[in-house]
Amino acid sequence: MTYAVKEAFLTLQGEGVQAGRRAVFLRFAGCNLWSGREEDRRKAVCQFCDTDFVGTDGAGGGKFADASTLGRHVTALWGAGQEQRLVVVTGGEPMLQLDAALVDALHDEGFRIAVESNGTIKATPGIDWLCVSPKAGSEVAQRSGDELKLVWPQAGVDPAELEQWDFAHFLVQPMDCADRESALAAAISLAMDRPKWRLTLQAHKIAGLR
Ligand code: SF4
Repeated sequence: MTYAVKEAFLTLQGEGVQAGRRAVFLRFAGCNLWSGREEDRRKAVCQFCDTDFVGTDGAGGGKFADASTLGRHVTALWGAGQEQRLVVVTGGEPMLQLDAALVDALHDEGFRIAVESNGTIKATPGIDWLCVSPKAGSEVAQRSGDELKLVWPQAGVDPAELEQWDFAHFLVQPMDCADRESALAAAISLAMDRPKWRLTLQAHKIAGLR
């Protein structure tokens, strides 16, 4: 299988339970809930995306002919050292491309694999840390994992219903939108009202990281 990667780079994970950890971000091109083109946003299932996942032209991006080639690319970005290797596989929607061969290749390179998915596609077995971020109006097929990350507020999403899903951690993250103050207040309010939820902020944006 050929893999289409928008960009890949070494950074610190900015959000969620693993915030602050050194990681290679592997951003796949393409999503099943939006084309990524502005002219399509209003008719997309997911309308608040803050990520460019179109094409393969970003730094460290490109088309990779097979899993082992992409695995070696991720290793080259990590640099020297075997300890605590972590790759965050994201997108777009990573489950459109993350198959068993790539899971094996990344493990062979010594990486723990964290995935950030919208949950509409069942996760490939073997992932070490699965974060699902559900989007209103989509059918979520993957209702278990390590971390459920709710971008808030989202009309049509009921946190009480999500609390029934099988996740170890429940995080609420203010939506990055025009009215950030209101979104932050709403996220704080949810965490105060429902103690199962923890507030997470996008520290990479605060710190000026990618
Ligand atoms: S599901 Fe995720 S990657 Fe896809 S459009 Fe929404 S926020 Fe962006």
